[in-house]
Amino acid sequence: MAKCDKGYLCKVCGKAVDEITESDLYLRYLLHEIKAEVLHLEPDCHIRCNPERAQYIVDSGFEPLNDVNTLGPFAKSFLDVGYVAEEETRVTAAWLKLKKLADSGIAIFDYPQT
Ligand SMILES: [Zn+2]
Repeated sequence: MAKCDKGYLCKVCGKAVDEITESDLYLRYLLHEIKAEVLHLEPDCHIRCNPERAQYIVDSGFEPLNDVNTLGPFAKSFLDVGYVAEEETRVTAAWLKLKKLADSGIAIFDYPQT
């Protein structure tokens, strides 16, 4: 999903993923979970449509999910505190990077992954 191309639909809710800051795929890219070469082959979904990851975004710019309602026993409230803290740091850092990227207008491939 680049700014110029439309038509990437969320695999969960079926609606268009319009903004880079809504893209779970780009978040995964910044988390090093997906390689740039296959980015365009993967289905996208909204960050909020993937609550399992979204629950770890802790930022004033991101409305927190009600993780217990959404995820039940998989909510971070029930997970190991140390693990949750690590994931929050990791995923929130990637999310902040994504926001910065969206503001800067830099193409995602030109942006250092680290
Ligand atoms: Zn969605």
